[in-house]
Amino acid sequence: MSNESINDLWNKAKELLKEETTVITYETWIQPLELKSINDNVIVLTATNSFQRDTVESRYIDLLTNTFNFITNKKCKIFIKLDNEEDNVLSQIPKIGNKKMFLDSGLNPKYTFSSFVVGSNNKFAQAAAIGVTETPGSKYNPFFIYGGVGLGKTHLMHAIGNQILENNPNAQILYVTSETFMNQLINALKDQSTEKFREKYRNIDVLLIDDIQFIANKKSTQEEFFHTFNTLYEAGKQIVLSSDKPPKDIELLEDRLKSRFDWGVIADISSPDYETRLAILRKKTQLENIIINDDILSEIATRVESNIRELEGILNKLTTISTLTGSPITMEMAQKAINDIVASQDKVISSDYIQEVVGKYFDVSPQDLRGSKRSNDVTFPRQVAMYLCRNVAQMSLPQIGNDFGKRDHTTVMHACNKIESQIKTNYKNTKQIVESVKNILLSKN
Ligand code: ADP
Ligand code: MG
Repeated sequence: MSNESINDLWNKAKELLKEETTVITYETWIQPLELKSINDNVIVLTATNSFQRDTVESRYIDLLTNTFNFITNKKCKIFIKLDNEEDNVLSQIPKIGNKKMFLDSGLNPKYTFSSFVVGSNNKFAQAAAIGVTETPGSKYNPFFIYGGVGLGKTHLMHAIGNQILENNPNAQILYVTSETFMNQLINALKDQSTEKFREKYRNIDVLLIDDIQFIANKKSTQEEFFHTFNTLYEAGKQIVLSSDKPPKDIELLEDRLKSRFDWGVIADISSPDYETRLAILRKKTQLENIIINDDILSEIATRVESNIRELEGILNKLTTISTLTGSPITMEMAQKAINDIVASQDKVISSDYIQEVVGKYFDVSPQDLRGSKRSNDVTFPRQVAMYLCRNVAQMSLPQIGNDFGKRDHTTVMHACNKIESQIKTNYKNTKQIVESVKNILLSKN
């Protein structure tokens, strides 16, 4: 497409977007974007900094997608990248060769081996992951990665998929979370389309299922997965799984699955040491062009020990402040941001505590929140409490279900989705309500 027609298209899109958003939203988030390229239905927009990119990705990607779908009359796939970033998506798609394979795979091009920092905490897992990509479906099959939250399991899984696709552009790769697997199965059973479901899952070369622990206690999902596993394994296809625990410690997981997970290689990822934390921070600032003093990076690496997502969280926060205030990142800013994170870590936010706080806020007893009453004055607080368990305490859906009167995980998922969409539209002030309960949770000890 010529530069001129790209410009035309972007101007047209912006006109529509302007009508759909407030002036502030438009001027802060949409206006600074640039349309970098259009390659069939793959559209790349550039943002000026990582904060803008992340915000647009999390809040406006649907709006952008719908707008471009409308204008181009195609089902568009939008990528937001940094202005100065190496041309990730487009340089990878030709390398990958087969754009359709890439788009169907569920892979995130950001998570590669080259953006993954190797330290003593993940050395074995990383080496085994590379081994998988060299001879998929043989020595390291299945490959099982386990470890705590935010330590790089998902990153490594995508890296495996991206690398295999680069080596073999025709490889059929599918990355899904176990929740997606489960939901697609439930839908297939409901629509009587299990044949199609099986065809999809049993005819691929590499199946990556993230957070497999969530299928524990789900009888029909385990049954279906057992057969999927056998079919793929017998056909010499690669299976990669991740979990928060090693197979033997996953409660309520069928023994026949536990024993199969043991057939290949099991690798754990533990918490990174200081050097690795610092290296990860350096890598991230370099990839995203964040200007920050090395002393400040050392301070962050020294004090934030828990997980990598939090290291990244601090960097994002500092970039935000610096963008909004137009001043460089200072040690003082960093210390304040670290204090906030460290303070929230010292508190264990349990579902009991959330039920207590939410109960007080809405004047409903914790028993009623856990109980079966379905009147609106109980249902809404209950959904808010579930949402907070998920999003503040980072609990799993099955765990939340259990703590709310042994409800099913799909009920919890429904509640979380509902509150999330009410926050987006700010239906009945849900946004403010959730924010204030969240503040109470995070401020009190
Ligand atoms: P998990 O799946 O174990 O909860 P993720 O893979 O989602 O964790 O990692 C959390 C964040 O930390 C991601 O943004 C990821 O890119 C980053 N990260 C984790 N490990 C590394 C690493 N070794 N090098 C660079 N970034 C990492
Ligand atoms: Mg993960």
